[in-house]
Amino acid sequence: SRKGLDELLLASRFSQLPESFYSPVSLQPLKNPHLVAFNTDAADLIGLDPCQASPEQLSDRFGGHQPLVGSNPIASVYSGHQFGGYTPQLGDGRAALLGDVTGCDGQRWELQLKGSGKTPYSRHGDGRAALRSVIREYLCSEALATLGIPTSRALCIIGSETQIYRESIEFAASMVRICPSHIRFGHFEYFYYTRRPEQLKQLADFVIEHHYPDCAKMDNPYLAMFSVVVERTARLIAQWQTVGFCHGVMNSDNMSILGFTLDYGPFGFLDDYQPGYICNRTDEHGRYAYQQQPSVAMWNCVCLAQSLTGLIKQADLEVALKRFQPVYAIAYTEQMKLRLGMAGKTDADGKVIEEYLQLLEQAECDYNAAFLALEKAVSGDAEAITLLLGSTSAVTQWLAVYLERVEKDALPLMARNNPRVIMRSYLAQHVIERAEQGNFDDLAQLQAALRDPYSDNFDIYSQPTPESGKNISLSCSS
Ligand code: AMP
Ligand code: MG
Ligand code: MG
Repeated sequence: SRKGLDELLLASRFSQLPESFYSPVSLQPLKNPHLVAFNTDAADLIGLDPCQASPEQLSDRFGGHQPLVGSNPIASVYSGHQFGGYTPQLGDGRAALLGDVTGCDGQRWELQLKGSGKTPYSRHGDGRAALRSVIREYLCSEALATLGIPTSRALCIIGSETQIYRESIEFAASMVRICPSHIRFGHFEYFYYTRRPEQLKQLADFVIEHHYPDCAKMDNPYLAMFSVVVERTARLIAQWQTVGFCHGVMNSDNMSILGFTLDYGPFGFLDDYQPGYICNRTDEHGRYAYQQQPSVAMWNCVCLAQSLTGLIKQADLEVALKRFQPVYAIAYTEQMKLRLGMAGKTDADGKVIEEYLQLLEQAECDYNAAFLALEKAVSGDAEAITLLLGSTSAVTQWLAVYLERVEKDALPLMARNNPRVIMRSYLAQHVIERAEQGNFDDLAQLQAALRDPYSDNFDIYSQPTPESGKNISLSCSS
């Protein structure tokens, strides 16, 4: 029951909300669109038959020249707290919701086209996305997905000869992304701060009906929904922290109401373990630094709570918010223990993790490479880890305690939980430079490796970042 491109699209459920939630938009075609990348995994999810999606068809449909049959593009309106301050109106400034699709398993997805041109919410922007930024989003959303982290997915990238002006002249591209919903905390904030309680209630009812049906059966469905959002967000951030992912722009308009990773901008994975690592050059004060992510996610949940005060009692909101920290801490500890191969539970587990992180920080060594070196130590060869951490007495003592704690059969557990392939910015940078010269082979190769992050077959991608590839400077302008 695989479908061709023009049989995919259903009217989006979101567009059944009143018109105050969105504006119709028209897609602005790209010049000489061509297919840069296609993701068969995402095609599988939405039941698209890749044989019925030729490069020419894809670039026509998603380059804006011949929109998909059934497409009724809209841009939704939202607002949000950006770097701590409230911005009264944002919205899909360079993305259009084309419609919904249903996968073979019945899961329903929204299909968005990013970079499709100006919308009423573009403000000073051109509605476009640079090729480099869609390549980064495409690769990273697939990378997080294969690591089991909730995220929007990427179907394909269309390149073009449309010029756009960033820090230099670049080529525009578009990307098709799918997510069960692209609704953000900021959608709720918009209707709260514009004092429209009826629409706010409609939005909450919509989210419950389509995305949190279990909450509908509860005594207070709104409170039940909010509690699940808080818990999902806490778990999501625990997963980010465990793998060393920094989002870079955790504004409340980039926070998914489903607890998915959304809107990849100047994100980055930790190279060396630096808790204060800031991946976004424009984030001068490090509001969104790696170690700030849990507390800033909680802060965003408070923003969401504020906008729900008309539907949920203050005291109930507070109880739900209090769940963030314990849910986060439990999830983070559990996942770190998997990476360290620590099955079962002892009282000292938290301390082992804490001290390990201190050693990583002091040694300024590569975060993800350290876990691979630990695997070797568990198998009896401690050379790699002492090379990384140094051979101080603190290291020797910690290693002794750790090796006493783990069993030899920890190795398979560790191998399943320590990715060999990480989407490091320098790897993406190389692929981007090649793609900008019209060569997409390296992109396809990296994509293939990221599909299989626990495999030992991709040696070239599993090395720590070389000095020259560290601190690649990324900004929001993309
Ligand atoms: P971000 O934090 O990057 O997710 O984006 C913040 C807001 O700016 C959103 O409303 C985006 O739609 C909008 N935006 C970002 N880049 C552009 C662009 N090139 N053209 C129009 N709107 C944009
Ligand atoms: Mg409207
Ligand atoms: Mg955004």
